[in-house]
Amino acid sequence: MKKYDVLIIGSGLSGLYTALKIDPSKEICILSKGKLMSGNTELAQGGIAATLSNDENELLSHIEDTLNAGAYYNDRQALKALVGTSNDIIDELVDLGVEFDKLDNGEYNLTMEGGHSSRRILHAGGDATGKEMMLALCEVVSKRANIDVIEDTMALDLIIQGDHCIGAFAINEEDNFYSIFAGDTVIATGGLGAIYKSTTNPKIATGDGVAMAYRAGVDINNMEFVQFHPTSFFTEKSGQRFLVSEAVRGEGAKLFNIEMERFMEKYDERMELAPRDIVSQSIFREMYDTWSDYVYLDITHCSKDYLMNRFPTIYNHLQVHGVHMEKDLVKVSPCEHYSIGGIITDIDGKSSCNHLYAVGECSSTGVHGANRLASNSLLECVVFGERVANMINKSREKVIFGSRKEVLIDKKFNFRTIRREVRQILQQYVGIVRNETDLKMAKRIITNHYDNLSKIKVTSKYYYETLNMVTCAMLIIDGALSRKESIGCHYRID
Ligand SMILES: Cc1cc2nc3c(=O)[nH]c(=O)nc-3n(C[C@H](O)[C@H](O)[C@H](O)COP(=O)(O)OP(=O)(O)OC[C@H]3O[C@@H](n4cnc5c(N)ncnc54)[C@H](O)[C@@H]3O)c2cc1C
Repeated sequence: MKKYDVLIIGSGLSGLYTALKIDPSKEICILSKGKLMSGNTELAQGGIAATLSNDENELLSHIEDTLNAGAYYNDRQALKALVGTSNDIIDELVDLGVEFDKLDNGEYNLTMEGGHSSRRILHAGGDATGKEMMLALCEVVSKRANIDVIEDTMALDLIIQGDHCIGAFAINEEDNFYSIFAGDTVIATGGLGAIYKSTTNPKIATGDGVAMAYRAGVDINNMEFVQFHPTSFFTEKSGQRFLVSEAVRGEGAKLFNIEMERFMEKYDERMELAPRDIVSQSIFREMYDTWSDYVYLDITHCSKDYLMNRFPTIYNHLQVHGVHMEKDLVKVSPCEHYSIGGIITDIDGKSSCNHLYAVGECSSTGVHGANRLASNSLLECVVFGERVANMINKSREKVIFGSRKEVLIDKKFNFRTIRREVRQILQQYVGIVRNETDLKMAKRIITNHYDNLSKIKVTSKYYYETLNMVTCAMLIIDGALSRKESIGCHYRID
């Protein structure tokens, strides 16, 4: 048993940034299921959107682009908070050691991405923005005496006492079981891509935070809004896909179907720079019509030197696979990328349970509406991480820890067949285009797994991961069934 002032579950950008903004007099524990850098953040290529001036028109334009991408389903108060503080947040990141790319004249080298009406995306290390941010923040965290980082340890369930969250149960790689008690608990567990057969997320992204919150009776919403990234690098293998960033289209790359028709003109006047839901749905349609598993991305108008310098990560990855961006077409197809819904929070990251906060991709702040605008999620992690920290800093309430006994059966079993089936079902029936018949069929199978898994209780990482995957799948299907209209990235063909 361990006791802290604050327990943060997750060591991505949202978890680390929240920890750094909490008063250093508080004892903090950061739990990480894998190593410190093992989540979605370090894979982020394109950048972080920010309005760098306090010019009213610029701010309004960023808000309007976000609303437009989100089908005007966004929470406007949360969105104002997101965009309004973006300038200050960038300064704070720079103070923490993040070095954003600059032009020769010393100004930030801003890029363009789909759905943005102006160049407002900052990037670092060319196309290694997330990694650069994580390296800088990890360095600062390692010097903070009040922060304990516990790696390779997975939170299993929240500990709830009355109407308060007082920490979480966790298990490490050696199967040691812990009760970690804390005055305040922050869920920062990232996405759920690994419940799909093809995703840009790493395999640890099994929706743990959302599922454990659901088991604790915490309010969840908008799970049907699963964003598919239009341009993951196509390979025959399923599992984690490599992303070819939106910023490549921002630098002028064009999309062609396998018959070499530039098809985006049929779908949206913004062409390749339309928001992600539109580009993904258009590619899906073209793949269907041409009986193909991919389309082509063409950036051959750029020189090798320019591409190697601007997109070093992407260039090197594709080169290893025999693709040279300056002369070859790149095969791409959409795959699962980002979870928009999750744990409902107010504007300060507070969930429906006392002393429980959520931040980052696992939260549902409402800023993204029905479809996330590119590069707004890293911004959300830091803006709302700071807001959560401010609330925790103000909190003086003392929580009296009770004790709770868990009766658990220990069993080794990896549930591989269920995992495989969940991924297959979601990919096939709960993907970019949905209909009631498919969703109902998916629901029958997934509910059956949920009921069976819920009847047993096993103290193992595999059991909980599988239960979490099935829980998130069920929440997505339920949301998709009850939302009859097409909006944002939820597309109902019926
Ligand atoms: C390939 C890729 C490219 C992207 N590019 C961009 C971009 O250019 N711009 C942008 O704004 N967004 C981008 N995104 C989205 C963005 O990176 C993520 O939404 C964001 O980084 C999420 O941060 P996070 O802190 O919420 O979660 P993560 O960074 O995913 O961190 C989650 C953490 O939680 C831990 N964890 C999970 N479950 C448990 C558990 N049960 N117990 C303990 N720890 C747990 C994990 O180990 C990890 O440390 C991209 C995403 C991907 C996958």
